[in-house]
Amino acid sequence: MKILVQKFGGTSVATQERREMIVDKVEAALKNGYFPVVVVSAIGRSGDPYATDTLINMAKSVGIETNPREMDLLMACGEIISSVVMANTLKKRGYECAALTGAQAGIITDDNFGDAEVLRVDTQKIYKYIENNIIPVITGFQGVNENGDITTLGRGGSDVSGSIIGEALNAEAVEIYTDVEGVMTADPRIVPDARVMKTIYYNEVFQMAEYGANVIHPRAVEVAMRSNIPLVIRNTMSNSPGTLITNYDKSRKYKESKKDKIITAVAQIGKRTQVRIFFNGSGGEYEDDNFLFDTIANNHISLDMINVYPDSKVFIIEDGQLSKLQKILDGKNISYEFKRNCSKVTIIGNKMRGVPGVMAKVIRALSKDHIEILQTSDSHTTISCLIASDNVNKAVNALHQEFELGKVSDKSEK
Ligand code: ADP
Ligand code: MG
Repeated sequence: MKILVQKFGGTSVATQERREMIVDKVEAALKNGYFPVVVVSAIGRSGDPYATDTLINMAKSVGIETNPREMDLLMACGEIISSVVMANTLKKRGYECAALTGAQAGIITDDNFGDAEVLRVDTQKIYKYIENNIIPVITGFQGVNENGDITTLGRGGSDVSGSIIGEALNAEAVEIYTDVEGVMTADPRIVPDARVMKTIYYNEVFQMAEYGANVIHPRAVEVAMRSNIPLVIRNTMSNSPGTLITNYDKSRKYKESKKDKIITAVAQIGKRTQVRIFFNGSGGEYEDDNFLFDTIANNHISLDMINVYPDSKVFIIEDGQLSKLQKILDGKNISYEFKRNCSKVTIIGNKMRGVPGVMAKVIRALSKDHIEILQTSDSHTTISCLIASDNVNKAVNALHQEFELGKVSDKSEK
């Protein structure tokens, strides 16, 4: 049996009208000879009654967030509600189906509440339904540990559920349904002329996701990539084919065209703080690189864009980790500076490897718009610039334009 996993995000399940559109997608899968396995996120976005953010705010207001096990139990409710409501809509349209929690679907994770990793999927639980022609409607974002405690997979984790289930069932593909037409050259909320890509390689979309494009969770891409299952990003509210994410495919000639762009996309991530620590002889053992970075790592603070100079160390951290870092640094006679409200903008492209002048173009594009670059970092396939968050929209648009990623200039895919 050819299985197709269909994952639907929060906005896709938000209203009855949209849930009817989901039934249309399930119907289409059946018509095309697939057996659909549905995975759903919690209903709606922040502010909606059963959305994950709403549950988190409620938990915080009464102090539950200090208890990770119970926090997960509470957060998992959003997807449970969603799966029951979605299953009900499918039943009303005449499809036999069953709402399943992560545990009921056999998704076994480690004990890391809030950010659990899936260890395995006991697939016989899902197959039991499929064999009886019952469509499973599985909660995204959650699993169960070996003790039977409900765990969650981290924000955006329903995408991971989709890929993990697709891998476990050896699905033909995993479709990720959302509120945009596919993977685009930039976030369409920021860049009005961002273009939908017909195809993109796993590693490029993985980089995009890692650098802030929240259209898909990076881990979901990683799982699909390791098992070579095509991922398709599509719009619940339209019938367009969306974006196919796969490996390099020789048959897709247009990808080898000379006109191919060096840069594939621009991504941005906010809520970052630049930290500068000075070594001026007053900080004692903290003025030893090893000691300093070990201490930070032992406190589970992850660093990015790290620059080490003899007399200063510069890096960025997520705003959420600032108070943890401050606890380490304060009262130790270490002199340091924080630059808050920063964002990282990144250009991504497999073809940038070894091409000279790309950084010069980045600098030109940003300086034309008087955007100060606070720091840079790069890899073979990415260049990132740290900038003030106030400049993010301007910067992303400037880079998008500089590398001609927009609709008007596109000739290669038509
Ligand atoms: P869902 O609830 O369906 O998971 P998300 O909000 O997580 O939806 O992801 C979809 C959103 O991702 C889009 O509305 C869009 O604003 C944003 N996004 C950011 N970067 C991109 C990109 N490069 N291509 C498409 N969408 C993007
Ligand atoms: Mg999402």
